[in-house]
Amino acid sequence: MTNGYRLIHDELKDRRGSAIGLPCAAPDCRRLADGWGLVGEASHYGEDSMGRAVRWSNDLNDYAPLCDSHNNLLDRGGDWLYCPNGHYRATFGTHRNGRCKGCTRDSLRARYADPEYRARANARRRELAAARRTNGEPR
Ligand SMILES: [Zn+2]
Ligand SMILES: [Zn+2]
Repeated sequence: MTNGYRLIHDELKDRRGSAIGLPCAAPDCRRLADGWGLVGEASHYGEDSMGRAVRWSNDLNDYAPLCDSHNNLLDRGGDWLYCPNGHYRATFGTHRNGRCKGCTRDSLRARYADPEYRARANARRRELAAARRTNGEPR
Protein backbone atom coordinates (compact mmCIF):
# COMPACT_ATOMS: atom_id res chain seq x y z
CA MET A 1 0.00 0.00 0.00
CA THR A 2 1.31 3.45 -0.86
CA ASN A 3 1.38 5.63 2.18
CA GLY A 4 0.46 9.19 1.20
CA TYR A 5 1.61 10.51 4.55
CA ARG A 6 5.09 9.04 4.10
CA LEU A 7 5.25 10.23 0.49
CA ILE A 8 4.39 13.84 1.24
CA HIS A 9 6.89 13.97 4.08
CA ASP A 10 9.60 12.57 1.81
CA GLU A 11 8.70 15.13 -0.82
CA LEU A 12 8.78 17.93 1.75
CA LYS A 13 12.32 16.97 2.69
CA ASP A 14 13.37 16.82 -0.97
CA ARG A 15 11.82 20.12 -1.95
CA ARG A 16 12.04 22.25 1.17
CA GLY A 17 14.86 20.55 3.06
CA SER A 18 14.74 19.60 6.72
CA ALA A 19 12.65 21.69 9.11
CA ILE A 20 14.62 20.55 12.14
CA GLY A 21 16.20 23.50 13.93
CA LEU A 22 14.18 26.19 12.14
CA PRO A 23 12.12 28.51 14.36
CA CYS A 24 8.71 27.00 15.19
CA ALA A 25 6.00 28.72 13.13
CA ALA A 26 3.44 28.83 15.96
CA PRO A 27 2.63 32.34 17.20
CA ASP A 28 4.80 33.35 20.19
CA CYS A 29 6.66 30.04 20.27
CA ARG A 30 10.38 30.39 20.88
CA ARG A 31 11.28 26.73 20.45
CA LEU A 32 13.00 25.25 17.44
CA ALA A 33 11.12 23.00 15.05
CA ASP A 34 11.38 19.22 15.30
CA GLY A 35 10.03 18.72 11.79
CA TRP A 36 7.38 19.76 9.30
CA GLY A 37 3.86 20.10 10.61
CA LEU A 38 0.55 20.52 8.82
CA VAL A 39 -0.77 24.04 9.38
CA GLY A 40 -3.26 24.04 6.49
CA GLU A 41 -6.39 21.95 6.03
CA ALA A 42 -5.93 18.20 6.02
CA SER A 43 -7.25 16.59 2.86
CA HIS A 44 -6.36 13.00 3.75
CA TYR A 45 -6.67 10.82 6.83
CA GLY A 46 -5.01 7.49 7.39
CA GLU A 47 -2.36 5.66 9.37
CA ASP A 48 1.41 5.87 9.33
CA SER A 49 3.67 2.81 9.22
CA MET A 50 3.30 2.46 13.02
CA GLY A 51 -0.49 2.39 12.78
CA ARG A 52 -0.95 5.81 14.34
CA ALA A 53 -3.73 8.03 13.02
CA VAL A 54 -2.27 10.76 10.83
CA ARG A 55 -3.64 13.49 8.62
CA TRP A 56 -2.00 15.18 5.70
CA SER A 57 -2.39 17.43 2.70
CA ASN A 58 -0.65 16.95 -0.63
CA ASP A 59 0.12 20.67 -0.91
CA LEU A 60 3.66 21.37 0.27
CA ASN A 61 2.63 24.92 1.17
CA ASP A 62 0.32 23.59 3.87
CA TYR A 63 3.33 22.72 6.01
CA ALA A 64 5.47 24.82 8.32
CA PRO A 65 8.33 24.06 10.73
CA LEU A 66 6.81 23.14 14.10
CA CYS A 67 8.14 22.09 17.48
CA ASP A 68 6.84 18.76 18.85
CA SER A 69 4.30 20.28 21.18
CA HIS A 70 2.74 22.48 18.48
CA ASN A 71 2.77 19.59 16.05
CA ASN A 72 0.86 17.48 18.61
CA LEU A 73 -1.51 20.32 19.24
CA LEU A 74 -2.50 20.68 15.59
CA ASP A 75 -2.57 16.92 15.05
CA ARG A 76 -5.47 16.82 17.45
CA GLY A 77 -7.41 19.27 15.31
CA GLY A 78 -8.57 22.84 15.76
CA ASP A 79 -6.26 25.77 15.12
CA TRP A 80 -3.89 28.07 17.00
CA LEU A 81 -6.69 29.81 18.86
CA TYR A 82 -9.33 27.16 19.46
CA CYS A 83 -9.34 23.43 20.13
CA PRO A 84 -11.67 21.28 17.96
CA ASN A 85 -14.32 21.58 20.68
CA GLY A 86 -14.10 25.36 20.73
CA HIS A 87 -12.09 25.93 23.92
CA TYR A 88 -10.06 29.10 23.68
CA ARG A 89 -6.53 27.75 24.04
CA ALA A 90 -5.08 30.76 25.86
CA THR A 91 -7.70 30.36 28.59
CA PHE A 92 -7.79 26.59 28.99
CA GLY A 93 -4.18 25.64 28.28
CA THR A 94 -2.78 22.51 26.72
CA HIS A 95 -1.25 19.32 28.11
CA ARG A 96 2.25 18.41 27.03
CA ASN A 97 0.89 15.77 24.66
CA GLY A 98 -1.16 18.39 22.83
CA ARG A 99 -4.51 17.56 24.43
CA CYS A 100 -6.68 20.54 25.35
CA LYS A 101 -7.12 20.93 29.13
CA GLY A 102 -10.66 22.16 28.58
CA CYS A 103 -11.51 18.89 26.82
CA THR A 104 -9.98 16.86 29.67
CA ARG A 105 -12.04 18.82 32.18
CA ASP A 106 -15.23 18.32 30.17
CA SER A 107 -14.69 14.60 29.78
CA LEU A 108 -14.00 14.23 33.52
CA ARG A 109 -17.15 16.18 34.30
CA ALA A 110 -19.19 14.02 31.95
CA ARG A 111 -17.80 10.91 33.59
CA TYR A 112 -18.58 12.05 37.12
CA ALA A 113 -22.05 13.10 36.03
CA ASP A 114 -22.71 9.48 35.06
CA PRO A 115 -24.25 7.68 38.10
CA GLU A 116 -22.98 4.30 36.90
CA TYR A 117 -19.43 5.61 36.78
CA ARG A 118 -19.75 7.03 40.28
CA ALA A 119 -21.20 3.78 41.58
CA ARG A 120 -18.31 1.82 40.07
CA ALA A 121 -15.73 4.25 41.46
CA ASN A 122 -17.28 4.02 44.95
CA ALA A 123 -17.42 0.22 44.84
CA ARG A 124 -13.78 0.12 43.82
CA ARG A 125 -12.82 2.44 46.68
CA ARG A 126 -14.65 0.20 49.18
CA GLU A 127 -12.91 -2.88 47.76
CA LEU A 128 -9.51 -1.25 48.17
CA ALA A 129 -10.31 -0.18 51.73
CA ALA A 130 -11.47 -3.72 52.58
CA ALA A 131 -8.30 -5.20 51.05
CA ARG A 132 -6.17 -2.84 53.13
CA ARG A 133 -7.97 -3.90 56.31
CA THR A 134 -7.52 -7.62 55.64
CA ASN A 135 -3.85 -6.99 54.92
CA GLY A 136 -3.56 -5.36 58.31
CA GLU A 137 -2.25 -2.13 56.88
CA PRO A 138 -2.90 1.08 58.73
CA ARG A 139 -5.91 2.97 57.44
ZN1 LIG B 1 6.16 25.62 18.91
ZN1 LIG C 1 -10.88 21.57 24.18
